[in-house]
Amino acid sequence: MLKIAKLGNPILRKVAAPINPREIRSSDIQGLIDEMFDVMYDEPGIGLAAPQVSRSVQLVVMGCKDDGGFPETVLINPSIVYYGPEQVENWEGCLSVDGLRGRVIRPSVVRVKGLDRQGKALDFEATGLFAVCIQHELDHLIGKVFLDRMTNMSTLTQLHEFQQYWQKESSSII
Ligand code: ZN
Repeated sequence: MLKIAKLGNPILRKVAAPINPREIRSSDIQGLIDEMFDVMYDEPGIGLAAPQVSRSVQLVVMGCKDDGGFPETVLINPSIVYYGPEQVENWEGCLSVDGLRGRVIRPSVVRVKGLDRQGKALDFEATGLFAVCIQHELDHLIGKVFLDRMTNMSTLTQLHEFQQYWQKESSSII
């Protein structure tokens, strides 16, 4: 199983390179996508970006089967082309940041363009947890983690204390 790069690993701070569309169907990229889903579901998480498994390329996998979840999604060379005007605050965590949760304010709606795992063009709007997850994962492709997006560091919480005091609120572990 692929190993997750943890905070402090310089690869998490690099800007990821685009994937040549002609290489998307290669066994290298298709195998990487399958392995990333395996790691994401094993952890468990709802999203994983390639830099988190030490591959600095523009690829993320996402999926959440819970209520209010979203379908399994692969995004290659993605970009957010529109942000909705409304902001929402959610708890976030990260498989590269062990044991911490923090509140992050982000736009509630995004429109995303990119390629799927067949290399087909995608263009869709996302809301709710899916929109939060997309923004969190795409941040990994530009060397950012959710801690960089926190505007109120006093909400930074260790996992045990999160479960004790805050879990009743909506949370998303990414
Ligand atoms: Zn993350």
